[in-house]
Amino acid sequence: MTLHPQPLQLFDTHGMPVHGLRLGCVDIHLGDKCGKFPDGNQVLVRGSATAAFDTPMMSNRIPDVLASADMVILGHVHEDHTAGLHLLPETPVYAPEGDINALRSLEGLARHYGYADGIAHTMAARAQTDFHYMPRPDAQSYADQTTWDLGGVQVRAIHMPGHTAGHSVLMIEPLDIAFIGDIDLSSFGPYYGDACSNLGDFRRSLAAIESLPAQAWITSHHKGVVTDRASFLALLSQFRGAIDRRHEAILAAIRQRPSTLQELVSARFVYPVHFNDVFVPSVESRVISQHLEEMLAAQLVHQTDHVFHAS
Ligand SMILES: [Zn+2]
Repeated sequence: MTLHPQPLQLFDTHGMPVHGLRLGCVDIHLGDKCGKFPDGNQVLVRGSATAAFDTPMMSNRIPDVLASADMVILGHVHEDHTAGLHLLPETPVYAPEGDINALRSLEGLARHYGYADGIAHTMAARAQTDFHYMPRPDAQSYADQTTWDLGGVQVRAIHMPGHTAGHSVLMIEPLDIAFIGDIDLSSFGPYYGDACSNLGDFRRSLAAIESLPAQAWITSHHKGVVTDRASFLALLSQFRGAIDRRHEAILAAIRQRPSTLQELVSARFVYPVHFNDVFVPSVESRVISQHLEEMLAAQLVHQTDHVFHAS
């Protein structure tokens, strides 16, 4: 089946245009700057029933469109993906079992982040003030390979963890369109800085997604829609490469000078030095620690007291 993307434009509640694409029964409404964080891209799949995939900030601009959803399926739980759920308090919502507690309570969201003392709760509170986060204790969890029959079109969850424990690709069948969420093909690269993130899982998911039999890929942020495999593979290679570049940069720093984790955190390997926010040290620590674990296992470094040395 060949997909022919059609331009899709509608107007938000302020009369401003919202651009997007239609791929068969799938509508993609692009957020600000093609869904760049803190915004995202809103996907709606229409069979006899309609499913919304995630609810980014931009969904607040098109509440009537979002209201046409009979259900919401979250590919993963993060504050920027639940920002329109408050508009649909009665609509059934599904989230992957690895992330479900982050949707059911604010405390669960704080544990999901797992940042240092106090900071996780600050970020959870920010999810409420800046992203309309509203806990959904009634949210239903789904497992790998769960399917939803929308009538004429089916959605299948494929567990691809790493970004979060539950992060899943939502495959639209038989069109073979993959909603790949925060495997977002951005130049920032993979994010694995939360307690629920896992670098090893992310590496395995990035290997697995390459052979997924899709003919279109929709990201939550940045790229929006990719409709040819060669472009997807090039973007995926660049995205995956960010992990290896970070790995080499951390190793080079240790080779130059034996360092503690705290010294490496101060040197910054995730965020640029001019970017500051309360969560930055926690994220740098979580990310760098996972690379150090890999280096220790590969005997590229060894540890004496709290100092990491090149082997
Ligand atoms: Zn995310």
